[in-house]
Amino acid sequence: MKILLKGGTIVNEGHSFVGDLVIENDHILEIINDGIARGNYDQIIDATGCFVLPGVIDEHVHFREPGLTRKADIESESRAAAFGGVTSFFDMPNTNPQTTSIETLEEKFSLGAEKSHVNYSFFIGATNDNAEVLRTVDATRVPGIKLFMGASTGNMLVDKMDSLREIFHIAKERNLPVMTHCEDTKLINENMKQAKEKYGEDPDVIHHAEIRSAEACYQSSSLAAQLANESGAHLHIAHISTADELTLADKNITLEACIAHLFFTDEDYAEKGTRIKCNPSIKSCTDRDAIRKALMDGRISCIGTDHAPHELKDKVGGCAHAASGMPMLQFSLVTMLELVDQGVLTIERLVELMSHQPARLFEVSRRGFLRPNYKADVVIVKKEPWTVSVDDIQSKCKWSPMEGHHYQWRVAYTICNGHIVYHKETLDESYRGEEIKFRA
Ligand SMILES: [Zn+2]
Repeated sequence: MKILLKGGTIVNEGHSFVGDLVIENDHILEIINDGIARGNYDQIIDATGCFVLPGVIDEHVHFREPGLTRKADIESESRAAAFGGVTSFFDMPNTNPQTTSIETLEEKFSLGAEKSHVNYSFFIGATNDNAEVLRTVDATRVPGIKLFMGASTGNMLVDKMDSLREIFHIAKERNLPVMTHCEDTKLINENMKQAKEKYGEDPDVIHHAEIRSAEACYQSSSLAAQLANESGAHLHIAHISTADELTLADKNITLEACIAHLFFTDEDYAEKGTRIKCNPSIKSCTDRDAIRKALMDGRISCIGTDHAPHELKDKVGGCAHAASGMPMLQFSLVTMLELVDQGVLTIERLVELMSHQPARLFEVSRRGFLRPNYKADVVIVKKEPWTVSVDDIQSKCKWSPMEGHHYQWRVAYTICNGHIVYHKETLDESYRGEEIKFRA
């Protein structure tokens, strides 16, 4: 099977040019930028006027399976991924059971193979006492170790200094990145107590950033940075939400920004309410603008979504009662393209942050770039204004903070391992993605 993507603007490794891309079976055969592609093709896709990009690698999603499948599951959320131009995802371990043992990890690989419409992998989670698992896990099958430093959803808080030191030590030994959720629990609990005294038992969501404060983030992030520096391990701090944390970027410390913290500010709580309640909280306009600036200067290394669906009934209440987290991966690429149009970042940098860098940071095998012999994970986007309605939403929860939003860009084709998995609002239901390999 040979497919020609003809005449699109190919964006790859810092360059943009009008050219042709040839796919043979599951891989990229060649990229032609100086002439007309010749030969016979089984299919020719006219990409004139479109961007041809490497498929997005979302290195931070919560697909809720196993155990929390009333909120989301691997089938529904990988469907949303395909609609959004995301060809690979790394899922987080705070499911039920938690992915903190080899057995539960194997169970997830089976689920991925059976159900995922795009390429999949799963983080191994750290706990206060699973060092042996981290020592023996197959480093070619997992992107890295996920560590919750600060309570989040699930019950995976690692709060003992000895355990934290040991986890970073093992990570260094095994050459595995440690991806952390950093928020200081003690400070959050104190802030919550004060907020309850001031505003009542369930403070309105407009106070979320006072409770899950910038200080709580920095306290925990700077501790993680200290542990990384002591051990020499690669620390990847998830969902940077404050300007202060940007100072922590270093040669062994990389920072992830998420769509919510790049797009919304605390002024949006008034309109969006608990739909944009997430942890860490969305903070001030100053914080958002600093994170946006860091996209271009390199202090932010990659973009993920922290896609974390809940049923709307779980989002009722305020800071104390409403669940934290929102679905986002279906709209991550088009949202970032909007920021490109606004001049926040360049299209080349977008590709760097959403495809190349996740592949580099986690040493993904043969994906994340448009290169001959790499897997043909490709997305074609076109300029076509549209408005998000509930019917467009593929996530199982059937709501989005982007409902009603007008986008200028739309995903036209998502190609996964050389297979057209999504085109014209239609998914190839029968297709299954592949397990992603690392360091191999
Ligand atoms: Zn997360």
